[in-house]
Amino acid sequence: MYVEKILSFRPSAVEGYPSTLFEFAKFLLRTGKKIQVKAVFCSSEPLHKHYRETIEQAFGCKVFDFYGLAERTIFATQCQEHAGQHLNFEYGISELLDEEGNDALGQEGVLVTTSLENFGMPLIRYQVSDRTMLIDEPCACGRAMPRMREVVSKYEDMIYRVDGTAISPSILTHPFKLIESINQSQIVQLDAHIVYCLKSSRLTVTTIVMSASYWRLFEARVGEDMKVSIEYSNHLARDPSGKFRWVVNQSISGEQLL
Ligand SMILES: [Zn+2]
Repeated sequence: MYVEKILSFRPSAVEGYPSTLFEFAKFLLRTGKKIQVKAVFCSSEPLHKHYRETIEQAFGCKVFDFYGLAERTIFATQCQEHAGQHLNFEYGISELLDEEGNDALGQEGVLVTTSLENFGMPLIRYQVSDRTMLIDEPCACGRAMPRMREVVSKYEDMIYRVDGTAISPSILTHPFKLIESINQSQIVQLDAHIVYCLKSSRLTVTTIVMSASYWRLFEARVGEDMKVSIEYSNHLARDPSGKFRWVVNQSISGEQLL
């Protein structure tokens, strides 16, 4: 039904969350249906390599990742080089600050953004919980606007060991992506307990054994004093906005950092 609806108005581009587009792309490939567009735009969630490859294969075009906020203070877009996102300074001014509020030169920092477009609710030096860093080299596309690396983490998406040290989601990688029967995974932290929720289309003994072996690698990173468990479910939780977060921290320590 979605396919017919989309084909009926012949779009030149498609936009969506990476996780949703990934599921839709797999459906297109599985059923042999074709939606040919010039570009796919996505934002708001990590665009994993295997998401990008599958979406590009299904839609027959490149995926352009962009970053923006509902508050309309920042708009950063990928160019044809697909290497970082150019900061569009005519839209808003973006700064990256370290923990002390100084310029985070050459390192990861917190985004502080000022709107130049939103006259109804202008926000000045509005700090968000997303972190990223600038890329020093000029882009091969020739645009002079600075680029930032993909935003990989939010405070609420950090996992914390029992001793309080943080583990960035970017180093957790996507440990289950090699198991074909695992469609989606989500790490949920509840204080000293981490649950790895897995959605599987074909839950076989092989899937369970392979999941457990990957899970042991993860256990080594979070520490022995952390309780860990795997749950299989057909439905992984999304935010009220519909956004999927693959690392969710519901612990008190996670909330305190917001
Ligand atoms: Zn560029």
